[in-house]
Amino acid sequence: MTQKKNAPLGVEGGYDYIICGGGMAGLSLAYYLKTSTLAHHSILIIEPQEKDKNDRTWAFWGNTENAFEHILYKKWSSVCFVDADGKSQVLDIENYQYKLLRGIDFYNFVIGELKGLGNIEWLKDSVSSIDDSDDLATITTTNGTQFQAKYVFDSTYKLKLDNRNNHNLLQHFKGLVIKSVEPIFNPSLPDMMNFGVVQYNDCRFIYVLPFDEHTAIVEYTLFSEKLLQEKEYDIELKKYISEKLQLSNYQILEEEFGVIPMSDEPTNEFPSKHVVRIGTAGGYTNPATGYTFQNTQKRLKGIVESLEKTGSPIIKDAWFKKRFLFYASVLLNVLEQKRQPAAEVFTRLYERNHPSQIFKFLDGETNFWEEIKIMYSTKKPIFIAAVFDVIKRKFTKL
Ligand SMILES: Cc1cc2nc3c(=O)[nH]c(=O)nc-3n(C[C@H](O)[C@H](O)[C@H](O)COP(=O)(O)OP(=O)(O)OC[C@H]3O[C@@H](n4cnc5c(N)ncnc54)[C@H](O)[C@@H]3O)c2cc1C
Repeated sequence: MTQKKNAPLGVEGGYDYIICGGGMAGLSLAYYLKTSTLAHHSILIIEPQEKDKNDRTWAFWGNTENAFEHILYKKWSSVCFVDADGKSQVLDIENYQYKLLRGIDFYNFVIGELKGLGNIEWLKDSVSSIDDSDDLATITTTNGTQFQAKYVFDSTYKLKLDNRNNHNLLQHFKGLVIKSVEPIFNPSLPDMMNFGVVQYNDCRFIYVLPFDEHTAIVEYTLFSEKLLQEKEYDIELKKYISEKLQLSNYQILEEEFGVIPMSDEPTNEFPSKHVVRIGTAGGYTNPATGYTFQNTQKRLKGIVESLEKTGSPIIKDAWFKKRFLFYASVLLNVLEQKRQPAAEVFTRLYERNHPSQIFKFLDGETNFWEEIKIMYSTKKPIFIAAVFDVIKRKFTKL
């Protein structure tokens, strides 16, 4: 373990790294540090919550195993897509799998791995400010204590998503884990996107992620600018369960509600010399899908590798990678401006391309030729209009 740095008067202690927020990104980072050559470095994790509840469930696709593969709750080798007319197709996702990780399993596993290590300290408090100076960063907690570190990793920063030149949609959803008396779910086939619900001129769909024949998470999801009233999610969920699943006899085991930014507003992952924003705060959410989990894992692994190799966490993307942000802006523009019904946009994408190519594209891993083919499968006049609108908005001050 490295010696704690000498802290100036009035400052509690110095660390190699301070992690603000012990949620998904903060804990993932601590885990990657623990499993790296930097395992002996001193770390302070500041988190106000206990992390003893299943407060969220992460679903994501992947074509390689990740660090948390052994604690996945479920994984599926195929998924179902249902269009607005109720026509369902099983997508051939080739070497990808659709995976599900429960928050509580993640918290228990990672905290269990880290607790008791001599170089990791935990503080149940909230960060109120982070200040950077020439050679270190200082954080102040709400009860006035200060700590310093060479690098502060901040997952608590609240993104400001209010610039009208950009597209600021929200992915918002309510999910119920239900248990039916009858065996009605197919445990090997989740509905990844089911547009067979009234669209109300929005983008609305259902996820059904089955755990077994009796139990599934059923989630009502929207991509739109404004949240609904709480009862509206409930009405639509109940309607889907009674009309489409034809279930009257079931038990609600758990509920989740979430809002994820789907925004092309530029984020600042490295706001100053010794501060790195991570997770949602660092802009790790895919603006076109709201998926954040897998991207966070990739990015944090990259940051830890960079720390190992160079001593600095700063990694820069090649400029040509930025094109994926532009593609996301175009898709967001089509959805925000309601240029084409969202159900049609996604149906066309999944029907006219190999689904695995769409996953690869959304992960920012396709080459330019593959991207041209995907662009060609969209309704061109609509997407071209969106391209011009994005360019106009990005270069004009509204
Ligand atoms: C209900 C829900 C379901 C989701 N499902 C998916 C999904 O299926 N797939 C996917 O890819 N993404 C999903 N996401 C999006 C994303 O993966 C999660 O939000 C993820 O938890 C983001 O990780 P994070 O570390 O950035 O934030 P969090 O996990 O929220 O962690 C931030 C932590 O900071 C703490 N904190 C806040 N303020 C302070 C402060 N001032 N000082 C100290 N600590 C503080 C919080 O208590 C929290 O523990 C979901 C989000 C939600 C809300």
